[in-house]
Amino acid sequence: MDGASSATPGPAAAGVAGAGVPVRVIVLGKQGAGKGTQAARLSERYGVPHISTGDAFRAAVRSGSALGVKAKTYMDAGELVPDDLVIGIVREYLSGEGTGGFVLDGFPRNVAQAQALSDMLAPEHLDAVVNLDVSTEEVLHRLAGRRVCQSCGATYNVVDNPPQVAGRCDVCGGVVAQRADDTEEAIRLRLEIYESATAPLIDWYAKQGLVATVDAAGPPDEVAERVLAAVEGARR
Ligand code: AMP
Repeated sequence: MDGASSATPGPAAAGVAGAGVPVRVIVLGKQGAGKGTQAARLSERYGVPHISTGDAFRAAVRSGSALGVKAKTYMDAGELVPDDLVIGIVREYLSGEGTGGFVLDGFPRNVAQAQALSDMLAPEHLDAVVNLDVSTEEVLHRLAGRRVCQSCGATYNVVDNPPQVAGRCDVCGGVVAQRADDTEEAIRLRLEIYESATAPLIDWYAKQGLVATVDAAGPPDEVAERVLAAVEGARR
């Protein structure tokens, strides 16, 4: 399906722990924690697909497919798309391009999805669940300024990281705009849903010894170093 692999897989990194062994990682965190950015970097570093269910849904909405039409109402309101639709998408990826490892971004979002993922992967396991830790105050600042390329999904911030030409993507020249679900009301609802449905996954995965919590405040390059160290540590 188009749109979920928002980073082009690069060559598998030489000299990283377990090089040659496919990496299977989940990136968890609040909206605006930097999941997309950090997942794309891990994808490039390890040469595995970046599977973003949010990107997959946005691509489906743009294409006007039946899936996109169903998902749009939930997305615009800041609500979760029903589990069966999301799980179906992920199952498709994991039986296709994700068989040799993956970085999952935006999935799972609740315990039912996490359980479905474990069932899909069995007998294989995850290497790590990277929990990007950042304050609500910081994510509110980031989300208010977030702008996204409508063509390639590259992310900007009007304050901290604006595109070189206002409203135009540095990467592909596409139109850079605010996401429909980055309104104040939808952001509030999404953060509430994160706390009630997604945050419990941290404990769920911690019981399996998989959680690596990373300080996600600060510049993306510095966060990326901490994320890589966490994944490498988990694979040793
Ligand atoms: P994201 O880009 O990850 O913030 O996702 C954008 C929107 O897509 C979310 O607010 C949900 O409406 C929907 N979505 C993405 N991933 C999931 C998921 N795993 N479960 C349910 N809805 C999802």
